Amino acid sequence: MFQKILVEKNILHHPNTKKILNNLKDPHIEIIESYEDYWGKVKKPYLQKRDNLFLFLAKKKGQLIKKTPDAYGTDGDNHFYFIHAYNCIYECEYCYLQGYFHTPDLVLFVNHDEIINEMARISKNYPSVWFHAGEFSDSLALSHITDEFDIYWDFFKKNKNAKLELRTKSVNIKNIMNKEPLENIITTFSLSSSQSSKEHDLKTPSTNARLKALKKLSDKGFQLGIHFDPIIYQENLEKNYDKLISDLLEKVNIDLINYFSIGVVRFTENVYKEVKKNYPSSKIHLGPYTKSFDEKIRYSRPTREWMLSKIKDLLIKNGIENKKIYLCME
Ligand code: SF4
Repeated sequence: MFQKILVEKNILHHPNTKKILNNLKDPHIEIIESYEDYWGKVKKPYLQKRDNLFLFLAKKKGQLIKKTPDAYGTDGDNHFYFIHAYNCIYECEYCYLQGYFHTPDLVLFVNHDEIINEMARISKNYPSVWFHAGEFSDSLALSHITDEFDIYWDFFKKNKNAKLELRTKSVNIKNIMNKEPLENIITTFSLSSSQSSKEHDLKTPSTNARLKALKKLSDKGFQLGIHFDPIIYQENLEKNYDKLISDLLEKVNIDLINYFSIGVVRFTENVYKEVKKNYPSSKIHLGPYTKSFDEKIRYSRPTREWMLSKIKDLLIKNGIENKKIYLCME
C-alpha cells in the first residue's frame, strides 16, 4: 500500500510505532527528524496516491483537539474533533482533503495518550461533550494496522459524560468487534445510494458491504449513527434512498441508531478546482452549482431544500423520530 514509511526519530521506539511497523509487511523505512520537514513541503498531485503513496509516522504537536465548525453534530451539544491522522486511502471524488492538503501522503500520529489527556482536560468542563474522529481521515480504514482503540475504550468507559464518534466508510471493524459495546462510543457510517457510491466513492467498500458491517455491529449491540452525507443529485433520488433506508432498517436495530445526519454535497472553491482537475468527466459536475451564503459551492437553495426534505421525509416515513435527524453543515 505504501512505497515508503518515514518515521520520526523521536517516536521510533514508541509502542504504537512498533505495533504499526509490525503490522505492515516488509516496510521500507526511512528515519526522519520531523514529518513537517517533508509532508506537503512540495506539492504532490493528489492522484499520485494511486501508485506512489508514502506513510509518515509522527507525533502530533500543537493542538490535538479542536472545536468543530457550527452545524457539525447534534444540536445543543459541545462538539470537538481530535487529530489522529491526515489523509485517507480511499478516493471519494468529492473529498475535501484533495484541496485541503498539498499532498495525499498519509500521516498517522502515535501519541494517542496525549489525545486522551487532552480529552480528560476538556471533558471536565462540560456536562456532556462529543469527540469526533475522522475529520482528516477515515477512522477505521487502517485500524487493522494502527490498533489504537484500547486506550479510547478505557477512557470512555470511565468518562460517561464524554462521547466518541468513530466515522467511517470502511468495513474494517475487526478491531472494534472484539470490544465491549459502550453507550458512549458511537460508530457511524457514511452511506449513499448504491448508484452514488459506485459512481463517486472510488476505492471504498460498496454500500452493500457497509450495510453488512453495520449489521454485524448492530447484532453485537454497538451504538451506531448514519450520515447520508454528501447526497449528490441523481435521477431517482427518492427511489434510491428509499431502498437504501429500507435495506438499512432491515439489517440494523433501529434503537441502536443514535442519529441520522443529512447533508448535500458542497465544496470550497479550492476543493472544487481540484475535483474538476482530478475527475473531469464525473457526473458530480452535473450541478448546476452556485456560490452560497458561506462562499461554498453548492446546489441552489431550492434544490438543496428539496433534496434534504425528501430524504428527511423518507426517514420519517420509515419510522425514524424527527429528533434523531439533523441537517449537516446547512
Ligand atoms: S472516506 Fe472520507 S476521508 Fe476518505 S476519501 Fe472518502 S471522503 Fe475523503
